[in-house]
Amino acid sequence: MHSSTQKIVVGSSFFLLICTVAVCVYTLAGWDLLDAIYMVIITIFGVGYGEVQPIVSPGLKIFTIGLIVFGCSSLIYVTGGFLQMITEGEINRALGRRRNAKELAQLNGHTIVVGYGRVGRVLADELERAGVSFVVVEASSNRAAEADAKGLLTVTGNATEEATLDQAGATRAKTLATVLPDDALNVFITLTAHELNPKLEIIARAESPATERKLLRSGASKVVVPAALGAARISQLMTLPSAESLFSDDADLLGERLATIGLKMNQFRIEEDSPFAGRSIQDVAREARRGMLAVAIFTVDGQVEHQPDASRQLAPGETLVALCNRDDMERIAKRATGRTKMMYRGVTY
Ligand code: AMP
Repeated sequence: MHSSTQKIVVGSSFFLLICTVAVCVYTLAGWDLLDAIYMVIITIFGVGYGEVQPIVSPGLKIFTIGLIVFGCSSLIYVTGGFLQMITEGEINRALGRRRNAKELAQLNGHTIVVGYGRVGRVLADELERAGVSFVVVEASSNRAAEADAKGLLTVTGNATEEATLDQAGATRAKTLATVLPDDALNVFITLTAHELNPKLEIIARAESPATERKLLRSGASKVVVPAALGAARISQLMTLPSAESLFSDDADLLGERLATIGLKMNQFRIEEDSPFAGRSIQDVAREARRGMLAVAIFTVDGQVEHQPDASRQLAPGETLVALCNRDDMERIAKRATGRTKMMYRGVTY
């Protein structure tokens, strides 16, 4: 619960408790109920009228002092909560939530973007630019608030749950894109969404090319392997004559784009004593937990082999240009430390 709302709820509960106890005490002191309620209200709100009935007993006087102190304090606490709510824009947010729910109920033939992370954000920007109506489903409340602040229709919740997808209008939607970095979650969300709406076009992200078949069997219409897309784009750059130019400033924009989806392009020069020497690309790819895509090989005589076959063996002196997850690349580099040198942007590590 938001802190201002919490203050209002706690303060109001305490205020009601004090009023109830006070009314009971005055009634037990022999006052009639209306007099007791009247006395409690004018005391707490500091109206300053005279006492309804003379307060003579010391016990009742002490109790009334307590009522003034605690009653006024709880009132001030509640008022503070309301002021905080206004200053923090909580009222606007509450109104926004209601507007959100109304707009969600009216959506039809829309797109659902699951996950407002690195890929989800890029996708949302593109959809916004194209004028497509869409809703973002995000599990993290911070990320959902980010999307909300950008004026996007957002559902905060776990997309593996039917209720969340239902709230995003999955039964009326045209397309759903599940772009989480976890293949198992994407498979589960695809299954759930397909079950909810068999006509839904599901586009799923797969980190590992091996998941592609599972996603298609689960009901996905299209599977996108971000690494493969990156590889295709890099292939276009392969008209550049040398390995160094592939890592030049011209390729900076591409590098930044790849970084937003957690990918990095690296080149390995295969040394004589490298464990990769004489091994196939497939063998090297096994070192990467989240898959690896060979983009090109620069041969010893300066030729470029585009998107080489997985069975292609690497010879000493050749340079393998590969795309994979940044974390995996570190692992591969660590394993090969001292034997295989890793080059990034022309610098050898
Ligand atoms: P990234 O790791 O940058 O691709 O971001 C993935 C996003 O997906 C993060 O913002 C996560 O909070 C979000 N996410 C992860 N699991 C779920 C889920 N089950 N439902 C909805 N969003 C999720």
